[in-house]
Amino acid sequence: MTNCIFCRIASKELPSGIVYEDENTLAFKDINPISPVHILVIPKKHFCHLSQISEEDPHLAGHLLFVVNHIAKQEGLTENGYRVVINCGEWGGQIVQHLHLHLLGGRQLTNELG
Ligand code: 5GP
Ligand code: ZN
Repeated sequence: MTNCIFCRIASKELPSGIVYEDENTLAFKDINPISPVHILVIPKKHFCHLSQISEEDPHLAGHLLFVVNHIAKQEGLTENGYRVVINCGEWGGQIVQHLHLHLLGGRQLTNELG
């Protein structure tokens, strides 16, 4: 989708701080980080929502979690811990309509979930 900002990042049309890439996924630094490590992991293919990927490509959904854990290790987050967040839809706080996983770490996160 040409008007999707994360599709444009995935195609390298827009620059981003890439920390991981494979055939189907890309991970890059969030432009407005809320923790010392704040990385977004996306499928390169455009999926709006978690429910869409679960139905169309459950293998890719699992791969995204594998990638998150790989990056957590790469960023040295495994020992102290980290958080993975997926905002889904309007009430879930999703602003960018291209599925993404937030990997947050590098500080003590609060237990505030909403
Ligand atoms: P959401 O609320 O949709 O789950 O989060 C979207 C995230 O994307 C936000 O944390 C925001 O800072 C990040 N973001 C929005 N636009 C850009 C961009 O152009 N580049 C990068 N690297 N991050 C972005
Ligand atoms: Zn997209």
